[in-house]
Amino acid sequence: MSDLTTLQHFIGGTWVEPASGEYFESTNPATLEVLYRAARGNAADIEKAVAAARKVFEDPRWRDLSQTRRGHLLRRLGDLIAENAEDLARMETQDNGKLLREMRGQLAALPEYYYYYAGLADKIHGDFIPTSDRQVLNYTAREPLGVVGAITPWNSPLTLTSSKLAPALCAGNTVVIKPSEYTSATVLKLAELALEAGFPSGAVNVVTGFGAEAGQALVDHRDLAKISFTGSTATGARIAAATASRFIGSTLELGGKSPNIVFEDANLPNAAMGVVAGIFAAAGQTCIAGSRVFAHRSVYDELLERVSERARTIRIGDPMDEKTELGPLAFEGQRDKVAGYVDLGRGEGARVLTGGRATDGGLGGWFYEPTVLVDVDNSMRVVREEIFGPVLAVMPFDTEEEVVRLANDTEYGLAAGVWTTNLARAHRMAARLDAGTVWVNTYRAMSPMSPRQGFKTSGVGVEHGTETILEYTRLKSVWINTSEEPVADPFTMRS
Ligand code: NDP
Repeated sequence: MSDLTTLQHFIGGTWVEPASGEYFESTNPATLEVLYRAARGNAADIEKAVAAARKVFEDPRWRDLSQTRRGHLLRRLGDLIAENAEDLARMETQDNGKLLREMRGQLAALPEYYYYYAGLADKIHGDFIPTSDRQVLNYTAREPLGVVGAITPWNSPLTLTSSKLAPALCAGNTVVIKPSEYTSATVLKLAELALEAGFPSGAVNVVTGFGAEAGQALVDHRDLAKISFTGSTATGARIAAATASRFIGSTLELGGKSPNIVFEDANLPNAAMGVVAGIFAAAGQTCIAGSRVFAHRSVYDELLERVSERARTIRIGDPMDEKTELGPLAFEGQRDKVAGYVDLGRGEGARVLTGGRATDGGLGGWFYEPTVLVDVDNSMRVVREEIFGPVLAVMPFDTEEEVVRLANDTEYGLAAGVWTTNLARAHRMAARLDAGTVWVNTYRAMSPMSPRQGFKTSGVGVEHGTETILEYTRLKSVWINTSEEPVADPFTMRS
């Protein structure tokens, strides 16, 4: 890192001071200690970063690098992440307040993103198309797009950045990243590791700063070939409109209000743990949070008892402590937003069964108690809107038909959980739930190998798996006439 307390942009393989000369502070949300100052990026910084990325994209040393070699670089980057995993995990925990043991788990899995796309790099190719005119050869080629912009949120900065960076580089693009203003440090370190791994200077650039300044300037840059964005549905909609008007692509991973459905035949202790994992892990600050629980009326009371009992005993405190189960919310505004929603819920008639209060976690930070709301229904804002915090709404249901209707009655479609021991029902529910990911008897399982897509307002395009490569390449169709015969009729189409 350029300096322990002052972080610059990482552009063209070197540390670059912000054009404005301005910096902003990042605060540890558990202790409110200021961690570092980061460069406040603007359009001039974005200009430099996109130019650096464009230069590499056009450089034959990158453009003509064999795909197998590209794979080697990705593999090396994965190795470097593994070597730096502990430092990166600690840095991320200090920055966003997620539990150190969760971040250690994420960092242990992160190299796999690079290894997976390393293996895929030399399997990207077009097809030969046997058209009816055998004297004309037609083949397709999959080409990289150019400079890809990646805009990421604060809740899992490295993982969410890697979901974009690994496939973008795998396909031969170059990248400019704008991380969330709350979590700049680890993404800067990632770019530095990419350089160390052997990617050319300028293949991976990071401009830190605010969404409305650096983020907007990146989205608006004329040389950008694509934006890959993870964040709120509101910002995603703005980005979709901006990219559509310039006819460039966007991959959008947005919000959620995912249902977690517990049937009467479920293994209840496991289902209760799945409900707790779905909403209280990461203090509910995950897009896939299972924030709406539907429990069959016959097991509603028992499930509620198990979940609220566990919620009441969740250990709140220092996220660096291995025993802590719930850390702070990432910043003050997020804590206030969560508190505001719970108050709103009370006003709408919801009953707070457990939790419902902000706390400083004994450390002076921005914590909020694990909260379970009952006496709620699908018409309430606390049930319809994404809270992005440790707030669960629990509702009873009577029939499978009814719960499918209730679960799908949302503008979101990111994920869903189903708890049942009935195999046929598991398959029926997986087919009928309007969500891009359905988990049965588990929750929050994820792999870079498994494609994921948000339905409805939860997103556009696919991340992970082989499918995401289509999002980072364009398809060219090439026709070659192998015949020397004179063209008899220039006014008819050849095929
Ligand atoms: P935001 O949409 O506010 O921000 C996401 C990123 O976009 C940040 O880097 C932000 O910068 C930037 N940004 C904000 N405004 C603009 C703009 N006008 N132009 C370009 N970039 C902009 O979301 P949050 O950071 O608050 O993240 C939480 C949200 O992300 C939740 O709603 C959650 O559901 C969603 N999310 C979705 C995931 C998924 O995979 N589907 C995963 C994780 C989160 P800045 O930080 O400066 O505002």
